[in-house]
Amino acid sequence: MGFEVDAGGFYGEYGGAYIPEMLYPNIRELEENYMKIVQSDSFQSKFRLLLRDYAGRPTPLFRAERLSAHFGTQIFLKREDLNHTGAHKINNTIGQILMAGQLNKKRIIAETGAGQHGVATATVCALTGMECIIYMGALDMERQAPNVKKMLMLGAEVRPVHSGNKTLKDATNEAIRDWINHPVDTHYIIGSVVGPHPYPDMVTRFQSVISEEIRIQLMEKTGRDYPDYLVACVGGGSNAAGAYYHYLENEGVKLISAEAAGLGVDSGFTAATSLLGRPGIIHGSRTLLMQDADGQIEEPYSISAGLDYPGVGPLHAWLAESGRATVFAITDDEALQAAMLCTRKEGIIPALETAHALAALEKISPGAEDVVVVNLSGRGDKDMETYIEKLEI
Ligand SMILES: *Cc1c(COP(=O)(O)O)cnc(C)c1O
Repeated sequence: MGFEVDAGGFYGEYGGAYIPEMLYPNIRELEENYMKIVQSDSFQSKFRLLLRDYAGRPTPLFRAERLSAHFGTQIFLKREDLNHTGAHKINNTIGQILMAGQLNKKRIIAETGAGQHGVATATVCALTGMECIIYMGALDMERQAPNVKKMLMLGAEVRPVHSGNKTLKDATNEAIRDWINHPVDTHYIIGSVVGPHPYPDMVTRFQSVISEEIRIQLMEKTGRDYPDYLVACVGGGSNAAGAYYHYLENEGVKLISAEAAGLGVDSGFTAATSLLGRPGIIHGSRTLLMQDADGQIEEPYSISAGLDYPGVGPLHAWLAESGRATVFAITDDEALQAAMLCTRKEGIIPALETAHALAALEKISPGAEDVVVVNLSGRGDKDMETYIEKLEI
């Protein structure tokens, strides 16, 4: 079974580019050029240099002794939390800002929900001197005020979106509208492996540096370049896609995806997209989508803002449906407990998103000799308020 995107931009029956006609020139330009640019030596040398000297890569692969003893197996943590800006998102925004430069774009737009992708985008725009406009739901702007201030300090313009529920979906619609109106000079930086082809594939390639490094680091530490289990959380799915990429065709690696069950899969307050979703179209791609009987998108819920998305990238829809990945839905409470366990056992406070991946360790039964890699997608600084309240610290 193949897990690479096909020529039409599909993973199995998921993906594609379902876009309004007015967006066609923008998507066409990107599709025709992105592989040539990504594979060119000049792009790769700039990309690799920034990943190393700006983001701080390679990120360590840490043997977590006390977590290993707790679970009776060999656990390694891939420390994406040690990247500049505190998560894996910078890998993608560095790749895309260089892509925009190669395409002679002068203006960057992005959407953001929790603000993490907005900050990562504003960061690389400051780095390169690009104009930066971030669309953000007005409700999210209230809930994520510190990230709004960071974006402003970085020189971005943050445009509040007052339509719909005033959250991520509405911000995305507004960003797409902007792109349609500025087809020539603007690049749209999407923050995960979602959206129309070629975004899911392009973002996966930028994030694939994660599994590229895991191979080398595991070889050094264990004498074998692949783990038995590879665990990641899935919101849109970019950190998971990057961690999985070089192992997609290696069936010896069990891929374990953690999505957000919120208050419970059947509670009505959940973001367990691939478990509850049905095929539908969101943001230009066909994927699994939480929707009501009329096909209207249901508002997702999770304690973790980064997992709070009604869809999932088309690669992940295909990995789940084909059985290549096993998906566990993790409740808010399970994630909070896992965050505490990681903190007390290893002295690492993980992001709430990442805590969902750590909670999946409770759902699998690896042997004592098995090697388990958890992609530690981000650090928990941004989630301290939630931890203080919910864990009564
Ligand atoms: C944004 C975010 C996620 C979710 O996004 P993916 O595209 O699914 O990776 C996960 N972890 C952290 C720390 C994040 O900031």
